[in-house]
Amino acid sequence: MLLLRRGRLLKVSLLIIILILTVAFFMPKPKSQEVEQQEKLIKKDTHLSLKQRPIYKEGILGNFEPVPSNTVREGPGEGGKPYAGRGEDQNEVASVMMEYGMNMVVSNQVTLDRSIPDIRHEECRYWHYPENLPSTSVVIVFHNEGWSTLLRTIHSVLNRSPPQFLKEVVLVDDDSDKEHLKGQLEDYIRQFKGKVRLLHNKQREGLIRSRTFGAQESKGDVVLFLDAHCEVNTNWLPPLLAPIYMNNTVMTVPVIDGIDKDTFEYRPVYRGNTHFRGIFEWGMLYKETEIPEEEMKERKYFSEPYKSPTHAGGLFAINRKYFLKIGAYDPGLLVWGGENFELSFKIWQCGGSIVWVPCSRVGHVYRGFMPYTFGKLAQKRKGPLVTLNYKRVVEVWMDEYKEYFYTREPMARQYDAGDLSEQFDLREKLQCKDFKWYMDNVAYDVLYKFPLLPKNLYWGEVRSMLTSHCLDTMGSQPPSSVGLSHCHGSGGNQVFRLNEEGQLGVGERCIEGDMHHIKLVFCRLGTVDGPWQYDANTKMLHHRHHQKCLQLTPQSSQLHLQECKEEEGGQKWIFRELKVV
Ligand code: UDP
Ligand code: MN
Repeated sequence: MLLLRRGRLLKVSLLIIILILTVAFFMPKPKSQEVEQQEKLIKKDTHLSLKQRPIYKEGILGNFEPVPSNTVREGPGEGGKPYAGRGEDQNEVASVMMEYGMNMVVSNQVTLDRSIPDIRHEECRYWHYPENLPSTSVVIVFHNEGWSTLLRTIHSVLNRSPPQFLKEVVLVDDDSDKEHLKGQLEDYIRQFKGKVRLLHNKQREGLIRSRTFGAQESKGDVVLFLDAHCEVNTNWLPPLLAPIYMNNTVMTVPVIDGIDKDTFEYRPVYRGNTHFRGIFEWGMLYKETEIPEEEMKERKYFSEPYKSPTHAGGLFAINRKYFLKIGAYDPGLLVWGGENFELSFKIWQCGGSIVWVPCSRVGHVYRGFMPYTFGKLAQKRKGPLVTLNYKRVVEVWMDEYKEYFYTREPMARQYDAGDLSEQFDLREKLQCKDFKWYMDNVAYDVLYKFPLLPKNLYWGEVRSMLTSHCLDTMGSQPPSSVGLSHCHGSGGNQVFRLNEEGQLGVGERCIEGDMHHIKLVFCRLGTVDGPWQYDANTKMLHHRHHQKCLQLTPQSSQLHLQECKEEEGGQKWIFRELKVV
């Protein structure tokens, strides 16, 4: 009995020991608080293990961070410093500025492998990314770009990307006619042994279709688009790939730095410790705004990616198959403009998302003007090409919100945007949400700066009954004075709008008046009202705050506010709506 009991006791204790050992074996090892907290976060919102997402490790250099080097490179433009060029080149500079919109003389004197300052947020050095990120095709489309800027873009990508993730660099030549972009480029890229491929469009397609073509021809899991005048910064690639690796309907956007068009200085566009994200105003001009509190709160680290309603257009990464599945870009969009909105609305409304990635930084040369024409593509349809693109996007994606676009761009209502049936079919097929959902949940901060527009009471050219001249912005940048010129009836700088709240505007500018000047300034952010009132009977434009009327003094062709007098011919104005001919 005792024996038996003892035997039993022995068995039981053995079992218990085994049990304890087993539990101990499978028990999680002690973890740092950091890792534990991150695991909790993961469990909350995804099924991914720690290996599959970035981890921040305080003080431990990230797994893809380059080893810091002590050698300081010397030479023009090294370290991203401005280079003024040589005095004797000044004549040449003037002509290349016209040709390229940037100082190619200076660019040619800066090495293709120059160093640039690592201006990322300090935290960025301590992020650890998954080791098996997707392979990437970097797609660069170009039309008549300069040699050294294009090549510096390629060199920076090859120098600063982990080779295991860089499948290839795909160059798409959009029917350039410059000699250096043909045989010479073909010869040059041979040294890269197939890692850099050059494709040619048979005819000019514009950047939008060229990018779609590049994506179709790419072999990587991810396509990453860059302009042909960029320099990618330290460890730029893994942070862009990680969000896509975790969820292949995420599009990622690097933070863009500026490269000076005159001196090639590399410098941040954004200053201070804030993040910006992409929005739009109702004329579909691209704008940026500080990220709202709501988004800041969702994140633990300052350097983490954050959601953005849209993006500037040129630089982003996206899963290739996903990009093609959502129809890439609308092929009806011509050359340049609006494609960033088309893709952004489509992604958000059809179940995807866009994040900006602060730890990925890419420099871009902003030019002062477009050095190329739109070629034959521009002559195909009536109406300014970019506005036509906007109209396609607005019609397909914005539902009832499209009215605000037509309020802001009244002429656009008459433009023919072409056949949109395929785009509507796509929206149906992908079962996309409506624009109101997007405005309420994603782009709610648009309204902080650009509230919904009240209706126009009057719009069109504003003609003086005294001289038959029309108010004209003269194409000058605000703040400027309002001019008068021959009424040409075709819109452009002469399309004014007076809305129900008294705002008199043209484009994104508003007319302000004081005793001395009638000025054109940017409409005050967050407001849609103004001081103006038009009396269709007396034909007078009344300024309510000053209790005066808009008057033209013909001798000087100047506009002023004067005591309202019905018999004063210089105070009579006629609004005339314009027709597209
Ligand atoms: N581009 C192109 N075809 C065109 C116009 C532009 O391939 O018809 C290329 C251009 O060379 C550049 C990119 O598209 O690499 C973006 O154009 P750009 O830099 O002029 O646009 P921005 O940066 O001014 O918006
Ligand atoms: Mn560009």
